Amino acid sequence: VPSSRVDKLLSSMGYGSRSEMARMAKAGGIVLDGAEVADASQRIAVTPDLPLRMQIDGAPLDPLAGLVILLNKPLGMTCSHKEDGPLVYDILPGRWRERDPAISTIGRLDKQTSGLLLLTDDGALLHRVISPKRHISKTYRARLARPLSGAEGGVFASGRLMLEGEEKPLAPAALEIVSETEALLTVTEGRYHQVRRMFAAVGNHVTDLHRERIGGLGLPDGLAAGQWRLLTQAEIALIF
Ligand code: URA
Repeated sequence: VPSSRVDKLLSSMGYGSRSEMARMAKAGGIVLDGAEVADASQRIAVTPDLPLRMQIDGAPLDPLAGLVILLNKPLGMTCSHKEDGPLVYDILPGRWRERDPAISTIGRLDKQTSGLLLLTDDGALLHRVISPKRHISKTYRARLARPLSGAEGGVFASGRLMLEGEEKPLAPAALEIVSETEALLTVTEGRYHQVRRMFAAVGNHVTDLHRERIGGLGLPDGLAAGQWRLLTQAEIALIF
């Protein structure tokens, strides 16, 4: 089990600087197993149950490093600091922005795409999900401006569809028609604006786009847009 100084651990979790943690400890704001930790330079074992055993200013310690967050991304928020508008990170507790390792999105959704978005501070896990070699599927529900012709499924499944400006055809993707103007599309790549560009390539236009699934992990019922929760290890395993 790794161990850490209390001030270093809490500082890496965004609670404040080490000197602020020293002051908080002196003031009685840090409690471990029911006893005040008066000296923040103390070393403690960083066991997985620490969030159950430690309170900071009366609240349970935040999740330790290695977290995976499932967010139902609302429309109008961006995944990238390079774009304008509120960031999906703004939905999370403010101090989580200061965490080290940093939390980042696992892939991205467009500003005007809603639905299942994962975030993590685990770089290896992030890589496993977005690596093109792993072919993790992503399923999107698309509403369309024009009725489907019936030919789209064959084009998307062909493995020969070329998007404008690209040199490599898209891997086969599966289309499930829901109605004349609604479909589920499952892709295994994550190219820029991929789903919107795929429908544009067959003469249509996506008006609404919502991600429902990554691998075997679906967006849970009852998790409203803008809501998030941590994934369990069993749920994380469903991705792969
Ligand atoms: N494809 C898109 O066009 N946009 C997304 O946000 C995700 C997939």
